[in-house]
Amino acid sequence: MSNFPESMARFNGRRYHVYNDWIKLEHGGRLQKVSIDAGFTCPNRDGSLGVGGCTFCNNEGFSPSYLREERDITVQINTGITFMRRRYPRTKGFLAYFQSYSNTYDGLDKLKKIYAVALAHPDISGIVIGTRPDCLPEEILDYLAELSTRTMVELEIGIESCNDEVLRECLRGHDFACTQDAIRRAAKRGLFITGHLLLGLPLETSESLINGARALAELPLDALKFHQLQIMRGTRLANQYRAAPESLALLDPRSYLDAVIDVLEHLPPQFKIQRLGSEVPPNVLVSPDWGMRLSKFPALFEARLLERNTWQGRLFAGSTAGHCGNNNQ
Ligand code: SF4
Repeated sequence: MSNFPESMARFNGRRYHVYNDWIKLEHGGRLQKVSIDAGFTCPNRDGSLGVGGCTFCNNEGFSPSYLREERDITVQINTGITFMRRRYPRTKGFLAYFQSYSNTYDGLDKLKKIYAVALAHPDISGIVIGTRPDCLPEEILDYLAELSTRTMVELEIGIESCNDEVLRECLRGHDFACTQDAIRRAAKRGLFITGHLLLGLPLETSESLINGARALAELPLDALKFHQLQIMRGTRLANQYRAAPESLALLDPRSYLDAVIDVLEHLPPQFKIQRLGSEVPPNVLVSPDWGMRLSKFPALFEARLLERNTWQGRLFAGSTAGHCGNNNQ
């Protein structure tokens, strides 16, 4: 086993590249994302591809409650900022986070108007746009690239899995080739891209996860978010779980953290890690109940990395290059 390399010391002495550390260096402080529900839908819900959505999807699981009650974007931002200022008093600034559903799934003129409302808010210094890879036509990417010359823009693409069998099983409605294509087209325009991964989906195996990590390592991504599969009320997976709980092999905290580490070892050091997991409200969660707060994850994760004497990029084929910074080339 090799030792923790000197080259990783630049990540605050941590064994992985923490997005918030990078943001603080780049922007002189922490930027907090304020979630917005702009009333979009997605092709997997409106009938274009399907009507029931992905088998795991219940957007309520990740949306603050005020989003369900308020449609006005400026009011949503004000409410979010008031909450964030109380919780993170040292926050340097705020980003409007278009989080719910597919936030590029409309005509360009409508999108421009919606994003403009958020960007006109005096406390907002950029936008984060979550979407599916098949909702990124050229004209929208061109517009986002142009917008990124004027303000901070992050594009968050739902990858979920790199395994087509898994994507089919969760009725995702696109394959991994579609994801690769969208990431490459966005990166060609210099956009900052975060990939969203869901670990523990049915049919995913340790082997397919590692193969996926190797495929991700070859993509021009800037950041990744990891989420553990949580079965939420109102989803197809919840129905399956109720009918046959043994048909779903849910991860416990230890196996989940190990799965994240297995992926991380194959990723280039320059990928920033934005999230290590998520926590849905108890009234939405069906299973698994880990009985622990998300805030405990980073310390547990660091401890497990140390225990395994490993780090981000340890098994990355190009790890000796050790370059850092924007990889959009
Ligand atoms: S996860 Fe995204 S793409 Fe899938 S149904 Fe939900 S909003 Fe639509």
